[in-house]
Amino acid sequence: AAKAAGKNQVCVFDPRLRAEQVGRSRLVSGLRHALSRDELVVHYQPVVDLVTREVLSVEALLRWQSARGLVMPDRFIPVAEDTGLIVPIGDHVLRRATADARVWFDAHGVGVHVNVSGRQLRRPDVVPTVLGALDAAGLPGRALVLEITETALLATGKPETALVAAHLSELREHGVRVAIDDFGTGYSSLAYLQRLPVDIVKIDGAFTRFAADPGDEARRRRALATAIVDLCATLDLQAVAEQIETAEEAEAVRALGCPLGQGYLFGRPVPRDQIAPLLGSPDVTAHRSR
Ligand code: C2E
Ligand code: MG
Ligand code: MG
Ligand code: MG
Repeated sequence: AAKAAGKNQVCVFDPRLRAEQVGRSRLVSGLRHALSRDELVVHYQPVVDLVTREVLSVEALLRWQSARGLVMPDRFIPVAEDTGLIVPIGDHVLRRATADARVWFDAHGVGVHVNVSGRQLRRPDVVPTVLGALDAAGLPGRALVLEITETALLATGKPETALVAAHLSELREHGVRVAIDDFGTGYSSLAYLQRLPVDIVKIDGAFTRFAADPGDEARRRRALATAIVDLCATLDLQAVAEQIETAEEAEAVRALGCPLGQGYLFGRPVPRDQIAPLLGSPDVTAHRSR
């Protein structure tokens, strides 16, 4: 109705719009207190070697245990980014994840991946913040991977991408690695490979889901997945296939030469105490189906 009324008019009576605004402002005020109330918890999901099925690292994934139930990151991360709350929240995740990873890294060499938003990476103090978290945890830089999405960078112009690249380069001098997340879903995936210092490419699940269905669309996906895996090998980047749910999918991406994988087949995101038993075992799937 608001659209039909013309772009200069606001329809305040649209009940759906009204409900959305109420929902959002509640979300914002709840999120403001989530940190001090200790409602933000970090879960961990394994990243495995597709040949040996060994867990090489884990990805930290944030959950919000609010008074009204568990809230998933896709619902509150965009709001946290808009309001700037992502900065203190991101610091919290970084501190928590590096502290948790200390034991796993010492015992098994298992490092941790932390998702970071463009807003965090543009801050002038991002380098000391990251190094400070590693230091406090007693971890070397090589135990940490920062995951950035193209969408997180899309909001930024070219000069800002250069600033992000400078910060990432500095962190890489300390051994921290950089992963491009959800690769292939953005507008300029290949441009980012050129403009940002990258070590790891996480291939979006949309490309790895081609095993079961032999149709035309699956053939295209397989062709694209093959091209991305080959590109990574040529550029000396580690490829991770995301969202692997079945044994067929795991075998299909492995056959393309993709070295690493992640997905429900190998383990769902779980609290810290539940990830520890999966580490150091030779085959995480054998352990899981025990
Ligand atoms: P992401 O970084 O691409 O994380 C992978 C998402 O895929 C996770 O969703 C994970 O639970 C899900 N996933 C893993 N394996 C499978 C599978 O086999 N099948 C399916 N269908 N899904 C799978 P989650 O935890 O809901 O997180 C969503 C997104 O929220 C993340 O996508 C990431 O972009 C963002 N996010 C999560 N934690 C943080 C954080 O601490 N900071 C920031 N800035 N963003 C975060
Ligand atoms: Mg990620
Ligand atoms: Mg991803
Ligand atoms: Mg994602």
